[in-house]
Amino acid sequence: MKKLSYIITVILAIWICPVSAQNTKPEAKESTYQNTSFYDVTPVNRKFSRKKPKNVILLIGDGMSIPQIYAGMTANKGNLNLNNFKHVGFSKTYSANRYVTDSGAGGTAIATGHKTNNSAIGVDSSKNSVPSILEIAQANGLATGIVVTTNILDATPAAFVAHVPNRSMMADIAVDFTETGPDVFIGGGKEYFKNGKDGRNLLSELTAKGYHVCDTITELVKIRSGKLAGLLTENRVSKRGDQLPVTTGVALDILDDHKKGFFLMVEGSEIDGGGHSNDITYTVEEMLDFDRAVGKALEFAAKDGKTLVVVTADHETGGLTLVDGDLSTGKITGRYSTSGHTGLMVPVFAYGPGAEVFGGIDENTSFFNKFISLLKLKQ
Ligand code: MG
Ligand code: ZN
Repeated sequence: MKKLSYIITVILAIWICPVSAQNTKPEAKESTYQNTSFYDVTPVNRKFSRKKPKNVILLIGDGMSIPQIYAGMTANKGNLNLNNFKHVGFSKTYSANRYVTDSGAGGTAIATGHKTNNSAIGVDSSKNSVPSILEIAQANGLATGIVVTTNILDATPAAFVAHVPNRSMMADIAVDFTETGPDVFIGGGKEYFKNGKDGRNLLSELTAKGYHVCDTITELVKIRSGKLAGLLTENRVSKRGDQLPVTTGVALDILDDHKKGFFLMVEGSEIDGGGHSNDITYTVEEMLDFDRAVGKALEFAAKDGKTLVVVTADHETGGLTLVDGDLSTGKITGRYSTSGHTGLMVPVFAYGPGAEVFGGIDENTSFFNKFISLLKLKQ
């Protein structure tokens, strides 16, 4: 009997081991981030001077869903400016042709109210141009702005201004930026304006249109009115310190002067970069940077009482899972499951007059009509 059970064990071991070895993929690598620079979050007042907003600030965290937010929250010992929002919902991110969207289709859905194919910018799935909320706001006499931490011609900002079948058409997107002319735009991408399409120098064209064209933060922070094109690098923006909260503040200072109100889009562009690189440090630092820009927007809106602040994302990036953390020390351990995007829903946070319509689960195309109706814009 003993001999028999021994033989069975040996046979089972020989049979099971190679099979399980074949089926076990290498464990996804875990990495840990330990925060060392914490910030305070100020509670905001909830008294608004009207029922509908005069101004809208839309903040998009590219590649940000619950895992990125909770990683950031854990790293800042449980506090984020996002904790100030009482109206919370979810947005479904799938595109016209894919379960998993890219930033072109995601941005276009948010900006224009149309689901489109991945990589498309400001056109529907039949490649027809569709107007963005920013363009409609501008046509209604509102001031407009875009502030990002990457190339200003990248998919998310482009979706608010440009109309091209593919996000790679940056020379065309630069022309659309120059011709649509949001009052303020800040990011990278100077090379596409300097050496523009068909030999055009779009920087001179912007100057001729009355823009302050700046390529440093020092110059840019001095501009407090008029039109501003801040093109801070030749292509993408990197190693930038607190640039996003600072440039968000500059944009708000300029746009605030307009009698009819304003529409401002701010993007935390590189939370997505952390996901693509499977780098928890990159993800968390970009998340916290974005949250500090959210803090700037909330501070403005709380003082102003007429501004609606909406925070959302286009999609999740990296398939991030949080496997351990410590809220008392700001330590977070994560594991990524892909170097691409995922199909997760993303959260929606709203504060200010009109915030209540952003609760519940909705399509990413729903932002457009909500903004049109709240700002009473004519299409
Ligand atoms: Mg983006
Ligand atoms: Zn991405």
